[in-house]
Amino acid sequence: MVIIQHQKITEVLGPGTRLAIWLAGCDKGCKNCINQEGQNEKAGSYYPLSEVFALIRKSIAKHEIGGITISGGEPFLQYDELKGLLSWIKSNTKLDTIVFTGYKLSDLLKKHGNIKNDVLNYIDVLIDGEYKEELNCGDYLRGSSNQNLYFFTGKYIHDERFNSLHKEREFEFEIKDGGETFFIGIPPIGFYDKFIEQLSTIAG
Ligand code: SF4
Repeated sequence: MVIIQHQKITEVLGPGTRLAIWLAGCDKGCKNCINQEGQNEKAGSYYPLSEVFALIRKSIAKHEIGGITISGGEPFLQYDELKGLLSWIKSNTKLDTIVFTGYKLSDLLKKHGNIKNDVLNYIDVLIDGEYKEELNCGDYLRGSSNQNLYFFTGKYIHDERFNSLHKEREFEFEIKDGGETFFIGIPPIGFYDKFIEQLSTIAG
């Protein structure tokens, strides 16, 4: 599968500590997409599934993660790889799975006849729909209020963080060895512009 980025441990893309994987390529072109690099399917690196499985095992052993979040880009553009990854996770680990997609679930159901058995049965929470900046409402894991939450296994269905009245988002900020900055999470409207403005002020 082609991966843009992974984060061995994060606490802002779902409950508890999690491994996050961003898959490359997206054809949605949402305005002010939170991961514009991820839209380019050639931006990532290819990993055989066996290497991804090894990464997951390592994250479990070293960081005791409780779940995995898969985002992008658009994970469903790599349908067969996504299917292989999710079925392996459910057969070989106790991790819960959260998956983001820019497609509507109804469109995915039309496009992939066997998607329920192939993929959806292995997902605990699916967040569907494009990102619409004008509807960025501060909800926990939803970038915008047009997106829907599906609790396929029932896990987290009563977790108050997923209630739309719960307006508490967090995000993480990391500076990699080469000085590259990396944000994880769902920022509020206008965050990046404000952040760059602040940096310019500090830099004088
Ligand atoms: S669906 Fe997600 S990754 Fe794709 S363009 Fe929209 S916000 Fe960006």
